[in-house]
Amino acid sequence: MAKKPLLEFTDKGIYCAQGKFYIDPWKPVDDAVITHAHADHAYVGHKHYLAHYLSKEVLLYRLGEIQLQTVEYGETIMKNGVAISLYPAGHVIGSAQIRVEYKGEVWVVSGDYKVEDDGISTPFEPVQCHHFISECTFGMPVYTWKPQAQIFDDINKWWRTNLHNGLATVLVGYSLGKAQRILQNLDLSNGKVYTHGVIENTNEALRRNGVVLNPTERITQDSVKEEVRKGIIIAPPSSVGTPWMRKFGPYSFGYCSGWMAIRGAKRRRAADRGFILSDHADWDGLISAIDATRCESVYLTHGYTATFTRYLNEIGFDAHEVHTLYGSEEEEASPQPSPEEREPENQGEDINEHAHKILSFGEDLGEAGGTIS
Ligand SMILES: [Zn+2]
Ligand SMILES: [Zn+2]
Repeated sequence: MAKKPLLEFTDKGIYCAQGKFYIDPWKPVDDAVITHAHADHAYVGHKHYLAHYLSKEVLLYRLGEIQLQTVEYGETIMKNGVAISLYPAGHVIGSAQIRVEYKGEVWVVSGDYKVEDDGISTPFEPVQCHHFISECTFGMPVYTWKPQAQIFDDINKWWRTNLHNGLATVLVGYSLGKAQRILQNLDLSNGKVYTHGVIENTNEALRRNGVVLNPTERITQDSVKEEVRKGIIIAPPSSVGTPWMRKFGPYSFGYCSGWMAIRGAKRRRAADRGFILSDHADWDGLISAIDATRCESVYLTHGYTATFTRYLNEIGFDAHEVHTLYGSEEEEASPQPSPEEREPENQGEDINEHAHKILSFGEDLGEAGGTIS
């Protein structure tokens, strides 16, 4: 009889039977190891949580009172003979890949990751393993990122132009990750940084955790509109088109996301400017990260799993597509382009079809959950 794999997929999430714990489970379990604090990876309702210490305050803010144990990168925790250690994923502050070892067999669960050093998250570190479970949110060749210095040059220039033209500047990015990355890379000689409450709550949680961020001012009822209009406003995607945002008009509104690489994405989000900036690895980043693990097999959990799995198999990897509920965080939710907006470079793949397929994986999971090998 074939040996049971150290990690398996169940209808609750990635499970280690030997260690009796789950990694990023989406249904309540006794023992959960969490890669990072985004909602599709850190669910409420588990009895015990283990996460990186820089995720602590954000987890407590988002999930309320939980029983949470935190560790540093590289520290080892034993559970029933299974060694668990966390390594930087470079995705957001506190994000980790989970390395699991038992009797010489090593698995790594990437969670979400990017390979570019964003200057605020501990940079991604490849970890050698036998089996690698990877995301592939942007696993299509059309997704190729420029160095962030270039993107922030564009952002800072755009802000100056708005000031010159008498427009307020509103920059949208999701509240954990993108917002802090923006904040730390703005040219503060242009003016002050104002934040939407949802973003400031996350900033405050990170500051409680000892993270040093540039100064920000929370926008409240008492904020003076004319002062705010001289600075830059960082706002979450949920605020787009709301009266809250409209009251700062006239403004120019920019959107930071990897999806801005697809034609039409900017217009669909009604943005004046789209900045291609992602906290996920691009096509080359995914391939280089997977290659660096020297894994025997790789499992793809969310994103363009079908396309990317097929490509990896073509170039000689032993790649498998698996069904999970990851991929619903703001940046991962595909903007669903209409057929005429599809990028010509997308190699004939039907983006809508993939987005739909991924969705139904999640819905079917109750019945379809099984082992991954
Ligand atoms: Zn994430
Ligand atoms: Zn995710």
